[in-house]
Amino acid sequence: MNYNFEIVVVGGGPAGIAAACAAAEQGKSVAIVDENVGPGGQVWRGERTQQGKCDSTSPSYWFRRLKDCPLIRQFFGWRIFDAPAFGILRSEQQGECIELGYKRLVLATGARERFLPFPGWTLPNVMGAGAIQVMVKSGLPIRNKRVVVAGSGPLLLAVSAYLRQHEANVVAIYEQTSWINLARFMGGITGSPAKLVQGLQYVWKTFGIPFRAGCWPIAVHGKDRLQSAVISNGTKQWELACDYLACGFHLVPNIELASLLGCRIEGTVVEVDSLQRTSVDSIFCAGESTGIGGLEMSLLEGRIAGLASAGDHIGAEALAQQRGKMLRFASLLAKTFALRSELKSLSRPDTIVCRCEDVPFELISRHNSWRSAKLHTRCGMGACQGRICGTALEFLNGWIADSIRPPIFPAPLSSLAVDRENLVHNHLDT
Ligand SMILES: Cc1cc2nc3c(=O)[nH]c(=O)nc-3n(C[C@H](O)[C@H](O)[C@H](O)COP(=O)(O)OP(=O)(O)OC[C@H]3O[C@@H](n4cnc5c(N)ncnc54)[C@H](O)[C@@H]3O)c2cc1C
Repeated sequence: MNYNFEIVVVGGGPAGIAAACAAAEQGKSVAIVDENVGPGGQVWRGERTQQGKCDSTSPSYWFRRLKDCPLIRQFFGWRIFDAPAFGILRSEQQGECIELGYKRLVLATGARERFLPFPGWTLPNVMGAGAIQVMVKSGLPIRNKRVVVAGSGPLLLAVSAYLRQHEANVVAIYEQTSWINLARFMGGITGSPAKLVQGLQYVWKTFGIPFRAGCWPIAVHGKDRLQSAVISNGTKQWELACDYLACGFHLVPNIELASLLGCRIEGTVVEVDSLQRTSVDSIFCAGESTGIGGLEMSLLEGRIAGLASAGDHIGAEALAQQRGKMLRFASLLAKTFALRSELKSLSRPDTIVCRCEDVPFELISRHNSWRSAKLHTRCGMGACQGRICGTALEFLNGWIADSIRPPIFPAPLSSLAVDRENLVHNHLDT
């Protein structure tokens, strides 16, 4: 089935919702697509319209605005896996494949957690910090479970607060960055009262949970599931009994679709100008795929991209003025939570690095590039397509993937077998 829209927005998180609403309110026909079954992205996953406050950063406000836009067609539960020609995206849901035609495209594909391999990290109950939050939102019973939270980034506090609210026993929080970096971070946000209040709220909500900076997990023990986590501060090590280890090392932008479409990548983020235009004409990008900057920045960038893609450059430029302060916050986040070099030596020869294809560190370390390791060991060729091991190896070995090919997500053969030539002509004919 083929559908055509003036604007297609990929990503139903805060940036995507804001972009879709801004564009549709300018009278454009808009599609919003997300692999999740409902809107919200990472931070608002599972929230409902009726819940909580209703200011311009709340899910209730944006969900209602999305619902009230008759020009937006919603495709939730659909994952974009290919872009066979300019103006066409291919999307898949449980074996069914559709084509979405667009004149302008907004990419709002967000970010994911960074995982680093260490001995035992593939044991059951060792999870990403954001991942355990998602599981609890989906019904994982967490009451009275002992959870150690470790890794890096503001997400650790957000998740600890959430777990405590759901009656987990959060044993301790370990942040790999130093106290000095955290103090500089707090100093850096004093000029931004909203961020300061948000930070202090998390401190209040996690009050009483031991918090240690300059500490990180080095191993976990357990027979068929996690029983304890070993933590180090570089000079001492100690072991803590726990039921779960919630562990993520800050976030990495999802840039695969932008790369496939030929958008220029700057370091690890999609390069955009002040109106969120990428290097490819008619393609815009907003939210955490352009850099990790938090909810407010995603919403603002989404609004700018929505207006600019709909042709309202004056409105977009007016909003773009507010972006400077947020970019400074994003750069402060990146500096504060940059990973320490000790984390590069956590893997042992038999530590699995690519968990999809079971490839140990020993085999990978015989190679000198991502391509060579991939071709000889199959690392990065499994279901996650290198989203986990590729990101880890970028930090561990400085390897960058030199090409991206469709499908960017696994898709059934029936969806892959659709004739590309026919497809392009069908879209042109409609
Ligand atoms: C696991 C996790 C948990 C987080 N929890 C919190 C929290 O509790 N509190 C907090 O303040 N911040 C949290 N954050 C940070 C938060 O994500 C951002 O501040 C904000 O939500 C970013 O909004 P966004 O719209 O840019 O991206 P996201 O919210 O990440 O939205 C991007 C959306 O794009 C979709 N997508 C990507 N690629 C495709 C594709 N090819 N096809 C279809 N859909 C696609 C994804 O499914 C996702 O829903 C979390 C981040 C992560 C990674």
